Amino acid sequence: MYAKVRSAIGQAEGFARDLEPGCLDGRDAAALVELASQGERVFAAIKALAARRVDETKVWKDGGHRSAAHFVAETTGTTVGAASRALETARALDDLPATAEAFRAGELSETQAAEITSAAGADPDAEKELLATAAEQSVKGLRDRCRRVRAGAEADDHAWARRLHQGRRAHRWVDPGGAWRSDIRLAPDAGARVDSAWDAHLDRIFAEARRAGRREPREAYAADAFVAAMTEGPCKPTEVRVTVDSSALARGHTEPGERCEIKGVGPVPVTTARALLDDASVSILVGDGDDITAVSKPTRTIPAKLRRAVEARYPTCGVKTCANDQFLEIDHVVAVENGGYTEDANLWRICHHHHCLKTYGGWTVVGTTHDWDLVPPDDPDPP
Ligand SMILES: [Zn+2]
Repeated sequence: MYAKVRSAIGQAEGFARDLEPGCLDGRDAAALVELASQGERVFAAIKALAARRVDETKVWKDGGHRSAAHFVAETTGTTVGAASRALETARALDDLPATAEAFRAGELSETQAAEITSAAGADPDAEKELLATAAEQSVKGLRDRCRRVRAGAEADDHAWARRLHQGRRAHRWVDPGGAWRSDIRLAPDAGARVDSAWDAHLDRIFAEARRAGRREPREAYAADAFVAAMTEGPCKPTEVRVTVDSSALARGHTEPGERCEIKGVGPVPVTTARALLDDASVSILVGDGDDITAVSKPTRTIPAKLRRAVEARYPTCGVKTCANDQFLEIDHVVAVENGGYTEDANLWRICHHHHCLKTYGGWTVVGTTHDWDLVPPDDPDPP
């Protein structure tokens, strides 16, 4: 079966194997990109139409899959989410013959087909115009046009608003590199409120960075602004449970077989764990590999009275050149794991930026009790 398709794939495979991109001139390379993407689009259409039939015939049950989308995801090596969207597109093509024809002809990418079917499904009269838009404009242009078509086709505004509200979702996870990630979907009004709060912090942080001569990507400051906005106000003191081998904590990094994990988050750098120890309520589980031998009391919690004293002493960032009076964090001058005590003489309050420089940037504290300052790692003449 499908001898023609198999032979076409075989020929394409042979071409790919022998292809030496270094020997192509620019124009040939550009033509090849176009040709290959046409092939990709045609095969995407074949795949979508076949997947639709798998969906209809329920043959996916034979393999023990949970749904047609699970079958498609496993067979094609994509996520279940992407597979469901592809199936949704394929189902919608049943009622949109002009779009189906353009898709089969390799004129539409999967993304374009998905946009058009979703919008033209809501307003079939718009199909022709959307196909024309797809041929003339970028995906962004098509997406904007489709959004307007969908909005215009909403017969019951109240129901639409309710759907947007009911569809609100927030997901948090830890990516393979250990970074905290999230994906949030909000009704537009809630989104607008978040935007204005977020932007207010972003403008402040951006301006501060510029004044201090720092230049990082705006997205990095947006991340700082997100943290600032989320942790502002009457939020509870940070409660974090760290499981860390005492030897790793003392050394500053883990060795194979040792653990440094935040409960509910997973493995984190020891540096990060140490930073949390400064100003959070933390229980340390002292372990030896998998064998937890002792659970320490959360000794690093700064008692309320002491906290108030430090806050009163440092209404602004303790770094001499810094006047920041917001989002200050208490820091142990001498870290607890290096013998420092949680006492007034060993605590000061610095802004998030300076705390990061100390924790991650190798900056060090100089001076004497209640007269501390922070200097860069290569400062030749510390005060
Ligand atoms: Zn500061």
